[in-house]
Amino acid sequence: MSYPVRGEEPVVVEALRVRALPEGSCDKLLEFLRLYRDAVQMVVDRIWGINEGLSKKKLHRLFYSDLMSMGFRAHHAKEVYLYAKSLVESARSNGGRKPVLRRLSARIDRYDYRLDLDSMVLTLKLHGNYEVRLRLVTSKERVERFRGWSNYELVVRYDGESFWVSVYFRKTVRTVKPRTVMAIDLNFDNVTLAVFTLDGKLIRLKRFKPPHRRVLTHRMWIERIQGRYPRSWRFVKGIRRAIERHGERIRSISWDYAHKLGDSIAELALRFRSVVVLEDLGELKENSKRDRRFNKRLGLWFYRRVQFCVEYEARERNLEVVKVNPRGTSSRCPRCGGRLFEDGHRVPRCRRCGFIGDRDVIATVNLYRRYVSRYPRCGVPGVALNASKPDEVPSGMRGNRDEAMKTTSSYYEFI
Ligand SMILES: [Zn+2]
Repeated sequence: MSYPVRGEEPVVVEALRVRALPEGSCDKLLEFLRLYRDAVQMVVDRIWGINEGLSKKKLHRLFYSDLMSMGFRAHHAKEVYLYAKSLVESARSNGGRKPVLRRLSARIDRYDYRLDLDSMVLTLKLHGNYEVRLRLVTSKERVERFRGWSNYELVVRYDGESFWVSVYFRKTVRTVKPRTVMAIDLNFDNVTLAVFTLDGKLIRLKRFKPPHRRVLTHRMWIERIQGRYPRSWRFVKGIRRAIERHGERIRSISWDYAHKLGDSIAELALRFRSVVVLEDLGELKENSKRDRRFNKRLGLWFYRRVQFCVEYEARERNLEVVKVNPRGTSSRCPRCGGRLFEDGHRVPRCRRCGFIGDRDVIATVNLYRRYVSRYPRCGVPGVALNASKPDEVPSGMRGNRDEAMKTTSSYYEFI
């Protein structure tokens, strides 16, 4: 699945890949695929030596009539030269040699096929005005989910035994207009979620406890087994199997957790009509400085998995998801931007302005701030764009430690 963005409305593109059985003889379809391949090769051969960029117009002028005289339809011709051009361009950019086509596959424009989702029959228009009907070999349910989507292009392929078809579908997603901002901070102890109004008030705070203990139990078993058989464990099948079993349990515990968490976070975000703000983990490496926060017990992979599920579930509900750079979000004062220091009770304090707060809540406030400064839009009045005055700091974040702790601890959630 992919989410290319056209303007403000994200478009989801998905392919339905299925085996297809031609009704009657497949001779004409094979003939078409060979002809198509040869035509693409012909265009590749002729443009390989041309170094200037070739516009669609120029390609059309160069090849249209030749391709039509081979028996192709107008949109076949267009697909042929555009495909040839993309092959040449990617070969050049890799510094490779001139492409030589062997596989039998053809890209077909939506004007040259008809797809009937009810009977699951695909009709392809071939060269010389031939038509071929193919039956899609798949379940009704798989096809059903694409009803209401628009199909625009397909690729038909022959692998020496069967024909395969990939139909590309797309759908415009009308995203929910955000009324609140939900910032999510992932760290070693917990997953903290905070919902802010668009003018910066904290209205909901929730924490989730990662399944550390359960994962740790299996990890301890693995270490114990490895310790007992320090030399042989890699080579003895039974021991390796036992270790693998614990590894599988860890994987399934964390997937299970991530799914449930993603689902309940997205449900909450839907209720609050939130835009979901996540940390952009893209740049982080397993042993980056930040790894201290992520701890060895549950690595970055675990947080990526959680994020994946949160993002997926949120998008399924047509909610907007935004990723912001997490750098410094847990070490900077949300009020004045100064560095935070931990005092004796491991509570961060800002030496510049005296701000005291809970580390996880600080991170979510900073994520919220970063989102607001990056997207000062939405026609939302009253969004504070710059660092706000002290009295505008989200509620529950006032400079009094006891108060801040009380507000947050009453929301502690364990699942
Ligand atoms: Zn400060």
